Amino acid sequence: MSDEQSILVIEDEVKVAQYLGKGLTEAGYKVYTAFTGEDGIINWLNHEPDLIVLDLNLPGRDGLEILSTIREKDLTLPVIILSARDTTEDKVLGLDSGADDYLIKPFEFSELLARIKVRLRRDQSNTLEYSMADLYVDVIARKVTRNNKIVNLTPREFEILELLLRNAYKPVSRQVLAKDVWRVERATPLDNVIDVHVMRLRKKIDLEDQKRLIHTIRGLGFVISDKEDEIP
Ligand code: CA
Repeated sequence: MSDEQSILVIEDEVKVAQYLGKGLTEAGYKVYTAFTGEDGIINWLNHEPDLIVLDLNLPGRDGLEILSTIREKDLTLPVIILSARDTTEDKVLGLDSGADDYLIKPFEFSELLARIKVRLRRDQSNTLEYSMADLYVDVIARKVTRNNKIVNLTPREFEILELLLRNAYKPVSRQVLAKDVWRVERATPLDNVIDVHVMRLRKKIDLEDQKRLIHTIRGLGFVISDKEDEIP
């Protein structure tokens, strides 16, 4: 898996978006760009970026609406708002709606970069153990137990499980599975293969008498969650 961190820039001003994209790429990030909020949502779901830079004034659904859509599914993804709206009320509104930070245009690129680095550093925890309900995973020992009983997984099944746990409670798309586990860019030719592997993993993890943890979300992919009523 690549260590490269990715940033999604949602900004309708093409020049600003290109300027940010160029600067962030040079700073070593993988950058995705969207010129509308709708396109931003699609990019967010497809690429699962590590951070989003979000302009507030967008055509169609504005930045705050986009942010609340994101926050319905992901409470922890760092989002930095860019805006020409510079009143204190707007700033408070942005932070209240779940933004992590707020920059007023015009801003220095170095200032944005510094804030991005802070957010991504805080977010970078190398988890070595996961647990959910009575499932326990030791990443170093590659040991998995459910209800204290060892579960034997193939290396690929283990990688899928780890990826799901790393994104616990958030949908993981087939695209992300393809990229992370199979290391290919496009999921489509692999869709059936991915589904078969997830099904096998689920059979081993979720035995009949146990709470179901791995769920399929139509049109989105898969999620691991012990909160069945909160699954989208
Ligand atoms: Ca704008």
